Amino acid sequence: MKYDKGNLLTVEITDIGNDGEGIGKIDGYTLFIKDAVIGDVVSAKIMKAKKNYAYAHLEEVITPSVDRVEAKCPVARACGGCQTQNMSYEKELEFKQRKVRNNIVRLGGFDESFVDSIMEPIIGMDEPWRYRNKAQFPIGKDKNGRIIAGFYAGRTHSIIPVTDCLIGTAENKDILSVIISHMEKNNIEPYDETSGKGLMRHVLIRKGFTSGQIMVCLVLNYKGISKNKKFAGINADGENTAIEYISGQKELVTRLSQIKGMTSISVSINTDKTNVIMGTEIHTIWGNDTISDTLCGLEFDISPLSFYQVNPVQCEKLYGQAIEYAGLTGEETVWDLYCGIGTITLSMAKKAGHVYGVEIIPDAIEDAKKNALRNGLTNADFFCGKAEEVLPDFYANGRLEEKDKHALQSEYNISESALHPDVIVVDPPRKGCDQACLDTMLKMSPDRIVYVSCDSATLARDLRILADGGYELKAIRPCDMFGHTVHVETVVLLTK
Ligand code: SAH
Repeated sequence: MKYDKGNLLTVEITDIGNDGEGIGKIDGYTLFIKDAVIGDVVSAKIMKAKKNYAYAHLEEVITPSVDRVEAKCPVARACGGCQTQNMSYEKELEFKQRKVRNNIVRLGGFDESFVDSIMEPIIGMDEPWRYRNKAQFPIGKDKNGRIIAGFYAGRTHSIIPVTDCLIGTAENKDILSVIISHMEKNNIEPYDETSGKGLMRHVLIRKGFTSGQIMVCLVLNYKGISKNKKFAGINADGENTAIEYISGQKELVTRLSQIKGMTSISVSINTDKTNVIMGTEIHTIWGNDTISDTLCGLEFDISPLSFYQVNPVQCEKLYGQAIEYAGLTGEETVWDLYCGIGTITLSMAKKAGHVYGVEIIPDAIEDAKKNALRNGLTNADFFCGKAEEVLPDFYANGRLEEKDKHALQSEYNISESALHPDVIVVDPPRKGCDQACLDTMLKMSPDRIVYVSCDSATLARDLRILADGGYELKAIRPCDMFGHTVHVETVVLLTK
């Protein structure tokens, strides 16, 4: 049969899927071909065939598309991190604009011409390389037993060695090289997912682009006893007081600390057999517990466990758009749900009456409170908990439970106006908002809802719920925070 596994076919690529794969058709039979670009004529080998469609492997580009470019990164195809390096950046932006639009139309059930009439053009990047301020490298071994750091290949956990990722910072390479050579010298084993043995799981590296400060956090499968509280690795006499989590720790720390910008070195203990990268227990072994950075004219402290936008340059543009949609005049009461370390909350606090932030990670809320103080903002309060619990609790009782209270002021009374705020901003993770959260938002009936989303499929689903609850879509604007990948951020304004 023509479409059996292993067969080679020649096909022209005419469309692109949501994951960036090229789509071509032969007599109504659809082929999904990763790394093929619209306009290419390719030869592809069938890998997995179904009745009406198949997944095929790109064997050769016979006639390249005018939009095809050579991938800058030598491992772009194998690595699961990037998906669209072989497409011109201009085309990538067009693809993202269309992806958001199509999801809102198809999954949200909104009228096509209506969506087109309110959609604004995607905010692209001026420089789509070296834009990520954070990377989490898994550590493992190659088939010759050599220690490697890199990224997972798409859909698997085999590590593609790459220490100089071109969308990451230039320092990553030097930091990883110090760590790997230290591991080799001291016989430190990388973690093995199958056996659960080995010490070094991941290396988290984060850099404040404005401050230049760098944080390294080593994620360890450390089974020894560790102190259950944060402690400084260096005491007042300059001695290293930390437990030795890694053999030759002092030497490793010394070498890492010599890298320009190094500010914080910590370990995160994760002994669970899990895909979750970070363990919740963090110990600083050198320098500060946090790094700081400036975003939207505000200074932020960032802990290893806190979420911080990975693309600060685009983030300022995104927040700028969110603030514009929020229509702040200085008087408004605003809720910022899924607030992280308070970046949106505090940017809005500068322009609103009072802002309330809600976030699930305690460390992030601690950072948020410090960030408010540090920036002299007293009109922002933060609550730790799930948005879908904190908000309904608050709405039902007109106050917050004692356990939810993480107020800045010691004598704290939540104002009546918070029950019916002017604006609610949400910025949930990929799975979108919980139904209980959306229901309460509708009951609180703010004048405006600003929805910031990193997944346009769940965004579309939630917009439908809000629209059925009486809100009207006013504007949609995608923003590219993740160049060379298929991910795209979107900000949407809804009004009552
Ligand atoms: N607005 C912030 C963070 C956005 S990322 C910023 O732009 O920096 C999404 C955040 O939601 C993360 O900080 C995550 O910890 C938090 N989160 C995830 N599930 C949550 C929930 N159910 N309730 C509240 N916060 C949640």
